[in-house]
This record gives sequence, C-alpha cells and structure tokens, in this order.
Amino acid sequence: LDQHVIGQNEAKLAMSVAVAQHYKKLNNPSDDLKLDKTNVMIMGPTGSGKTLIAQSIADFLDVPFAICDATTLTEAGYVGDDVESIVTRLLQNADGDVKLAERGIVFIDEIDKITKKSQNVSITRDVSGEGVQQGLLKIIEGTTVRVNATGGKRKHPGQDMVDLDTTNVLFIVGGAFVGLDKLLQERSNEGGVGFGADIKDPDHQADLAKVLPEDLIKYGFIPEFIGRFGLITYVNELTTDQLCSIVKEPKNSLVKQFKYLFGLDGINLEFTDSALRAIAEKAQELKTGARGLRKIVEEV
Ligand code: ADP
Repeated sequence: LDQHVIGQNEAKLAMSVAVAQHYKKLNNPSDDLKLDKTNVMIMGPTGSGKTLIAQSIADFLDVPFAICDATTLTEAGYVGDDVESIVTRLLQNADGDVKLAERGIVFIDEIDKITKKSQNVSITRDVSGEGVQQGLLKIIEGTTVRVNATGGKRKHPGQDMVDLDTTNVLFIVGGAFVGLDKLLQERSNEGGVGFGADIKDPDHQADLAKVLPEDLIKYGFIPEFIGRFGLITYVNELTTDQLCSIVKEPKNSLVKQFKYLFGLDGINLEFTDSALRAIAEKAQELKTGARGLRKIVEEV
C-alpha cells in the first residue's frame, strides 16, 4: 500500500489487517466454528484515497474487484441498478468465473447517500434509502444471487443464469459522511464532562476517529446494516505536502507518467519543487482532494 497510497496510515493499517484476516479465514475454514466476516467501512473526504486503498489491495491479491456507487442503487422494481447489479459486476470482473468472484472484493462508494434521511437524488429513487440498505444488507450478510452467467455482457442471448454466493465476498464501503462531525460534536456536548477539552477541536479528522456505531445509526443507517461492519476506519484530508508527494512519489505517479510520455518524444521533462508545490496548492483550492491533480498537470 505504501507504494501506491501517500499518508492515510490508520486506514492502510486497518484495511491490511482486515483483509489479511478475511483471507486467512477463507483459506482455513474451521469445522466447528463459524468464522464471521468483517466488512469494512471507510470514511473521509472525497479524493483522499478510499477507493485507491481498496483497489490497490485487490490488485495486490489478484482477486476480482468491483466498484459501484451507492447513489445509483435502487430498491428492486425502481428505475436504476438494483443491488444485485453489484454481484453481476463482480462476476464480470472475474471473467465469468463464479468461484473466483465468490472470493472477490466489492467497494461501494458514497454509502452515506443511502441513509434514511438523505434527500433522494432522483425522483425514481426510494425516498428513504432504507430500502436500499435492506437490499444491500442481504448481499453483505451472504446470500445466493442468481445472475447472468456472462456478467451482464450480451454475448449469450439465451441468458444463462448462475448462482453466486456472497458469503465470502468482502465488502468495503466508503463515503465522505458530510455532517457527521456535527453529530459527533452534539454527542460530546451532551456528555459534557471529561473529553470537553477537544470538543472545539476544529480538526474534523480527529473526529472521525471517534465515530461509534450509534453515531452512524443517528446519521441514518439501520442498526443491522452498521452491525455488519466490524471495522470502521477513516482517511484524512490530504495536506499540501501530501498532495505534493502524490504528484511525484507513488508507483504510477503523474510525474513518472508524464516523464515517460515526454520521453517517447525524446524530451526530458523536469518538475521543479516549486512547480510541484504550485500544483498541490491549486489542487487544494479545488477541494476535491487528489482528484484535481491530473487535470492541473494536463492543462499545464
Ligand atoms: P476517494 O477517497 O474519493 O475514494 P480515490 O481513492 O478515488 O478517492 O482518489 C482519487 C485519485 O486521487 C486516485 O486515483 C489517486 O490517483 C489519487 N489519490 C487520492 N488519495 C491518494 C493518496 N493518499 N495517495 C496517492 N494518491 C491518491
């Protein structure tokens, strides 16, 4: 992970342990113990590496990986993707190999948008989000889903259907959880005593470390849903220094990519430290984390 992800040490550590334990359980089933699965919830600002961490783990382990967006999910019967589309996508990314897909990893982004309170983003969407949570819950707990054998591709018009068991699929869900910090503040104000000193901590990041399951229930998740996530971790907002590092240090950094591309034309491209800093500062203004970096470099 250190080769690909700058900073975010808490999340990298927590996710590494969770994933290692997950595959340890899969590879060593017990005869008399049921080893429960620990799904992961990762919170933090957009563009700060949540998807990247999950993706890097899947690449490293060489297991099928599917990313989907919770905002596009709807209850069965509504216009939109039903939750089973997640499983279809996983199978697709496993090239139709069911056994492989059953050991894959699913990353669901924007999970904070399916809370009970969230305003429906589309008129066709279930108003509460609770229906989507219920649907997701079943798949996360482990159920058998009947999906198109080709993973949705229209190669076989006959539509061979196969059963895919999601019991051993690892689910990682992520989201920015805007407004959660306010809830946390309310809670610490209610408590009043003891930790009072850091109530006024403007550092949103320190807050995310203190999230308890009940905060997430208050935020609008059904308790059963939260109960399925044995690990809740967080990423921090990236600092300007970290953004600088992201431009040049990771294995596939922008600097390396652009040097290579220019090199193909016999041009030696150099990035000065002050240029890197300027790029990072510009990205900081965009408030989209590391997402803005590529656009800035492309433009220059
Ligand atoms: P999100 O937190 O919204 O899931 P992503 O992980 O998709 O954000 O990040 C978007 C892009 O920004 C990534 O593809 C990656 O190139 C870059 N990026 C974000 N955070 C980091 C980081 N901590 N280290 C290296 N690159 C990062």
